[in-house]
Amino acid sequence: VRLSRPASVEEALRHLEADRDGARFYAGGLEVVFALRTRALERCTSLIDTKRIRGAVGVSRTDGHVRIGPATRHHAIATDPVVAADLPLLGLACGRLGTMRIRVQGTIGGNFGHGHQHTDPGTAAVVHGGWVELAATGGRRSVPIEEFWTGPYQVARGRDELIESIRLRPLGAGWVVVHDRVELLHRPPTAIVSMAGRVEDGRLAEVRIGVGGVPPRPMRLSAVERLLVGCGVGEVRDALAAAEPLVDQAVAAAADDLGSAEFKVCLLTGLVRRAAGRLLDRHGGERVVPAGGR
Ligand SMILES: Cc1cc2nc3c(=O)[nH]c(=O)nc-3n(C[C@H](O)[C@H](O)[C@H](O)COP(=O)(O)OP(=O)(O)OC[C@H]3O[C@@H](n4cnc5c(N)ncnc54)[C@H](O)[C@@H]3O)c2cc1C
Repeated sequence: VRLSRPASVEEALRHLEADRDGARFYAGGLEVVFALRTRALERCTSLIDTKRIRGAVGVSRTDGHVRIGPATRHHAIATDPVVAADLPLLGLACGRLGTMRIRVQGTIGGNFGHGHQHTDPGTAAVVHGGWVELAATGGRRSVPIEEFWTGPYQVARGRDELIESIRLRPLGAGWVVVHDRVELLHRPPTAIVSMAGRVEDGRLAEVRIGVGGVPPRPMRLSAVERLLVGCGVGEVRDALAAAEPLVDQAVAAAADDLGSAEFKVCLLTGLVRRAAGRLLDRHGGERVVPAGGR
């Protein structure tokens, strides 16, 4: 297997073009090396290291968004001050996933590129909203985050496209965030909930719920969000009493090694209830965006 280390997007795309069928991008290599070792990767004759591409690593504010280089490692995102101020859910998600070894080697671009539906950063990203920027020899395009995952292990990225950056929308001041998950096996997490809410006079004035693991792709639960608006902490249980059929309908869960569809919907609904309670109670793993933070 040939290895190249391009310094620019254009150079990376030239390497890809030179070995159309056999070239693969990699960053931390967690998934790619595993697939090579287990011979799960069909035909791989060259590897393109994306970490030295200009702009591939780091977090910056730009045009009202936060730009994240795809080769930025999970641990770097979890400890970044701009992420803490503007993208607190993404920070929590990257700080919770896997183990420290995975977080210091794995990258957000590798997580998105691998395309698994049990994605912690992907679930947080659908709550923030934004775009995945893709580059190919034929040109560039932006895919809205909520359209990037298209099904289990499937994303809207062609074989000839490089993830150039991920751009997410900051939460405004006063939002409280909770990222919660249940891991029945070591990997992957069975159910993930990423929730952001704005609390006024002890009631949820606005709420966004992202769910992952159970649905075939990370997604917002808009029907359940509507049930929670206006709720105080003592009203969450009643407001969500009839939520399970809505969750069931939205996520279209399927049975697999992690459990039956019914069990997973029940688990996810329970996680949503717990996250809403924690949001309002302002305890536990939540983080409040400070006033003045964008
Ligand atoms: C033990 C273990 C536990 C884990 N637990 C969790 C968890 O709890 N939650 C969770 O969300 N995830 C979890 N993961 C997944 C983890 O987040 C990913 O393995 C990691 O982020 C992959 O990053 P990488 O840079 O090593 O990817 P790589 O292996 O380098 O690449 C992965 C894929 O992305 C493609 N790719 C990489 N960079 C680009 C690019 N710039 N453009 C286009 N394609 C690109 C590669 O071609 C490949 O297909 C776990 C993984 C392991 C091994």
